[in-house]
Amino acid sequence: MERFAELTILQPADKEQIELPRTSEDEVAVGKKRLYIESYGCQMNFADSEVVAAVMRNAGFATTASAEDADLIFLNTCAIRDNAEQKVRHRLKHLTGLKRLKPGLLVGMLGCMAERLKTQLLEEEKVVDIVAGPDAYRDIPRLVEEAESGQKAVNVFLSREETYADIAPIRLNSNGVTAFVSIMRGCDNMCSFCVVPFTRGRERSRDAHSIVREAQNLFDQGYREVTLLGQNVDSYKWETVTFAHLLERVARIHPDLRVRFSTSHPKDITDDVLHTMARYDNICKYIHLPAQSGNSRVLKLMNRTYDRAWYIEKINSIRRILGDGCGISTDLISGFCSETEEEHQDSLSLLDFVRYDYAYMFAYSERPGTLAAKKYPDDIPEATKKRRLAEIIDRQLTHSAERNQRHVGQVQRVLIEGPSKRSADFLSGRNDQNKMVVFPKGNLQKGHYVNVLVTDCSSATLRGEVV
Ligand code: SAM
Ligand code: SF4
Repeated sequence: MERFAELTILQPADKEQIELPRTSEDEVAVGKKRLYIESYGCQMNFADSEVVAAVMRNAGFATTASAEDADLIFLNTCAIRDNAEQKVRHRLKHLTGLKRLKPGLLVGMLGCMAERLKTQLLEEEKVVDIVAGPDAYRDIPRLVEEAESGQKAVNVFLSREETYADIAPIRLNSNGVTAFVSIMRGCDNMCSFCVVPFTRGRERSRDAHSIVREAQNLFDQGYREVTLLGQNVDSYKWETVTFAHLLERVARIHPDLRVRFSTSHPKDITDDVLHTMARYDNICKYIHLPAQSGNSRVLKLMNRTYDRAWYIEKINSIRRILGDGCGISTDLISGFCSETEEEHQDSLSLLDFVRYDYAYMFAYSERPGTLAAKKYPDDIPEATKKRRLAEIIDRQLTHSAERNQRHVGQVQRVLIEGPSKRSADFLSGRNDQNKMVVFPKGNLQKGHYVNVLVTDCSSATLRGEVV
């Protein structure tokens, strides 16, 4: 009997975690071809790899955790910054060596880097046999057949409709407790620094019924948390269903099913969404609201379509409707084209104003083809970008520690996700605000909720005892 292992996606607990690729797991696969998937980049990519795994299972492939054992290797790639692409190029060098030892091995590039470079990838990287963009995953079995016959195979067609709504993803690296559910694809925003609209195409929302069905199925299988994913969830619109309606429908599945979502865009998040969050205990009080910069001139150059005052007003609405306890995180870019020292100080002062629980912080990386690459010189020296980034990180670490410190002495409701990374004697899970909480194992099991008295914390983790 063949047994299929679950393909898992780890939770992006922190930036370091996020930058690690996720890999497929071992399945027993008598007489099947073996597929190894390595996923880079954002949560959307990890969710997409689960769709790819489902498509490939139907085509008779079983997954493996080892590239060395595979007949077919997929790298699901990210193009958001140059270093994401360099990481994949480096990985391809290693795969070239592997292919020399195993000539029948096929290598496929999926995702944003595949979409960005298209056939150029085949010219530059001889080891690559298959190139498939984010909207071409249903076509992968055909592309594999074409590659097996000795030809290079490419599909980088971007669709206006594809949402993979009918494909039940195979959960990869799953803890069996938390899962991602894609609710939309693509992005229409055209932030000047960003390659996503070019690599993932036009924005489209997935059929609301299929989303609620997927979340219900996950709950029935024992999952207790879903994260609704999109580049800009607040512009979700399917027939008459808005994001606030969708959130409510998923929250009503069961009070024990936690609901999270990412990413919110400051120009689109509505009070309606915030009031819906306030009405349901099981919608987590945590919002990822990327600012990108704290300066209005830079925000204009970035084509974010809001200014500092608008952003601050959104933060005030969150605090007014959801209270000071609501977790807020952000993304910030240092050293965007022409950013002055004073403008950089505005980003630091925004950090001071909001006091984020967490931030993802990056040095600006020019991406070919974007509006910024065409219009604005990438004129901030690398050393300055790095220094500004270090200042931002430094400031944020103080705030993260301070926001975590507030929980010390409080009892937090935690959904247990599994053993702690550091010790098998401890379990870990998240509180409502998405903070990792570690506590002694006792007789507790994953998938259950526990109340934990927080006794101690670092800038990254809360520690405590079950009460
Ligand atoms: N859709 C989300 C939004 O609008 O906030 C974010 C999508 S993007 C995958 C994640 C983050 O990468 C962005 O919020 C931004 O901070 C960062 N990013 C995007 N392009 C970048 C670039 N060219 N250089 C540095 N960071 C970049
Ligand atoms: Fe990129 Fe802006 Fe779209 Fe986010 S909203 S994916 S940053 S273009």
